[in-house]
Amino acid sequence: MNRLFLFLGGMMKKRVLAVFLLCLLLLTSCADTTATMKEVQFVMSTVVSLDLRDHATPVLMKTLMNRLSEIDVLMSLQKRGSDIDRLNQSQGEVVTVDPSTYHVIEKALEYSRVAGGTFDPSIGHLVNLWGIGTEKAKLPTQEEIEEALQSRGLENIELLGNNQLRLHGETQVDIGAIAKGYAADEMVRIAKEAGVKSAIFNLGGNVYVLGSKGKSPFRVGIQNPFSDRDDYLGIVDVQDTSVVTSGNYERFFVADDGKRYHHILDPQTGYPAESELSGVTVISSNSTMADAFSTAIFVMGLEKGMDFIESIEGVEALFVTNTRDVYMTSGLRSSFTLTDNTFRLVE
Ligand code: ADP
Ligand code: MG
Repeated sequence: MNRLFLFLGGMMKKRVLAVFLLCLLLLTSCADTTATMKEVQFVMSTVVSLDLRDHATPVLMKTLMNRLSEIDVLMSLQKRGSDIDRLNQSQGEVVTVDPSTYHVIEKALEYSRVAGGTFDPSIGHLVNLWGIGTEKAKLPTQEEIEEALQSRGLENIELLGNNQLRLHGETQVDIGAIAKGYAADEMVRIAKEAGVKSAIFNLGGNVYVLGSKGKSPFRVGIQNPFSDRDDYLGIVDVQDTSVVTSGNYERFFVADDGKRYHHILDPQTGYPAESELSGVTVISSNSTMADAFSTAIFVMGLEKGMDFIESIEGVEALFVTNTRDVYMTSGLRSSFTLTDNTFRLVE
């Protein structure tokens, strides 16, 4: 009798469990596909806003935010123990890094070669020397700059396969100019896998719009480089693409000589890139590439930058000069609207 009871009890438990699991399955598969969620956090040394416009869940939001912290911990130049830090401390030893770090370094080398070295991931020494964006920012001496320039060289970053690399000479790696682009691409990959059709990811001015806003494209503001606030000078109508802006107003310091030094360095001179430009924007569905090229064209300047982007299929760019002139590649004309009339659109 007792045994039968136990047996029946066991059956009951299994059935209850089965019903419970079925409910759970139904619940998750019938999860609210229209649910939206927006979160803003300071991560990767910048203000990040993730705006999920459908299929949003707290779990997904957490997965996305965690991925950003993970990328930061792996790819930061400054954080002790990051993949990049371990690599830079390795003194010629073989270093094994996370597959994502390996991928980003591989891409950085590729884009650097395409951009003729204006974007250069081997300038870690120079970036550390200037320390712009850190509390150690200072104007280096000419000798220090020359020494740091000596240490660079793409050929000193040896990819060995299997996520292993070796650094030669005094070269130090910095992928800070491309990591946020990679992070944006990762946001899109993870969100898409979770079924999200429409979202806006903004990683400190590095924007990715996934899908569209209902039947219309998204309207993304282009930062006014002369404004301290989040003012924009115009709007681009885009969908399923990344809009990446680099400018000399983002991170800078004023040295003892009273001059302003910003964070985009010219790998030729070792000094902050000096051109007629204040800000540039690159538009491409590959945010890693857009990030690398936004840094690159800022260094190239207007004329070379324009020719460079025009030569690449599917990539567009917008240039804002110090004298408030706005130039853009031919493919962008139909989707850009100037909203601030203190700027002048150059046809
Ligand atoms: P932000 O990070 O402000 O969006 P960028 O994407 O242009 O700006 O990246 C600038 C960062 O990249 C710098 O802080 C520095 O770490 C690094 N960097 C600066 N100049 C170069 C360059 N010419 N090539 C590669 N990396 C650079
Ligand atoms: Mg960049």
